Amino acid sequence: MVHYLDNAATTAMRDVAVEAMMPLLQTSYGNPSGAHRMARQANRVVDESREVLASVTGFKPGELVFTSGGTEADNTVIKGACSAAEGSAICSAVEHHAILDPVLAVGGATIGVDSSGQVDVAELESLLKAINDDPDRSAPAVVSVMAANNETGVIQPLEKVAELVRTYSPDTILHCDAVQAICWLDLASITATFDSISLSAHKFGGPKGVGLVAMRSNKTIAPLLLGGSQERSRRGGTHNVAGIAAMAAAANATVAERDDAIPNVAKLRDRLSDGILDTVEGVTETGVTGRDRSHKIANISHFCFEQIESEALLFLLEKHDIMASAASSCASGAAEPSHVLTAMGYDRLLAFGSLRLSLGYSSTNEDVDAVLACLPAAVERLRERG
Ligand code: PLP
Repeated sequence: MVHYLDNAATTAMRDVAVEAMMPLLQTSYGNPSGAHRMARQANRVVDESREVLASVTGFKPGELVFTSGGTEADNTVIKGACSAAEGSAICSAVEHHAILDPVLAVGGATIGVDSSGQVDVAELESLLKAINDDPDRSAPAVVSVMAANNETGVIQPLEKVAELVRTYSPDTILHCDAVQAICWLDLASITATFDSISLSAHKFGGPKGVGLVAMRSNKTIAPLLLGGSQERSRRGGTHNVAGIAAMAAAANATVAERDDAIPNVAKLRDRLSDGILDTVEGVTETGVTGRDRSHKIANISHFCFEQIESEALLFLLEKHDIMASAASSCASGAAEPSHVLTAMGYDRLLAFGSLRLSLGYSSTNEDVDAVLACLPAAVERLRERG
């Protein structure tokens, strides 16, 4: 039996999402930009999905732009905002590379985090204030802070970030990468104060390769992809109709189940994390003081092990049919330690010994038992080997 503990990397598709998708691939496969009946049908599916996703995210249907996933959604906002305003960008130092890299590419600034992994709001305030006080500097085009970190699960102080940006830089686009948040946090409370969010369907039971940007209509960004008038010329390219319909079905189901799922998954996560802390020496639960995990989303259990290399540990876990990852899966095999852990102040060697176990709605006590049964011995074996 496989124990899938890599839900932050991707999730199994929900049945409702598969059911929504299949007929659109095999029988109702029209191109929504066309003129005939099958095209109009496909267009209706896109419109209906847009309505569902607008209601789930707290935006208007016309404020959604479908993309090929979270990476494109994040790039669209950062590059599109900087290009439209001829300005620069600011983000937290622990953003996913889909935000961090475009911010660095436009010469933007990063804001550090404290040892708990939360953005240093005093540093953000002093940078925004300095820009505001200097007549030679223009306001940033976009400030981007994620809702929850994909490696550690740390939730960012979004209300405080929003308050600072509104105070010192009211015209700046305030963006939130909510890719890891939709299953675990109330999106409405984020979208009440942020101008835009990005989502990726495969993180919540939808298919890979489809996502969205939701952005208030009073904000303007330049399109990332030119070449077609789809999405009111905001994103060229034939719609992924089946993917969009499946994303809407998955989002609906996720939000309907969320309140019940959170305490159940948090209980499993706590048993898993406490079990590791109780049985393994020389291990640090990242961003956690004592055992207080209240500033983390419910599903991520994340550790750094002394004298361990993640790759070797993952190999031993896989032998026991446990699927996990070291950091974000896009970075696995990386020669450098995680930028998230180094920003939090962990030393390089410790950061190379990281392990992320991420649960999902269908995770069970058996999954937790399986990890607790083999992890202590696996760590000991690797340490003995040196
Ligand atoms: N942002 C965050 C926080 C993520 O965790 C990920 C994926 O791991 C992405 C963006 C990129 O999403 P996608 O895989 O859809 O490109």
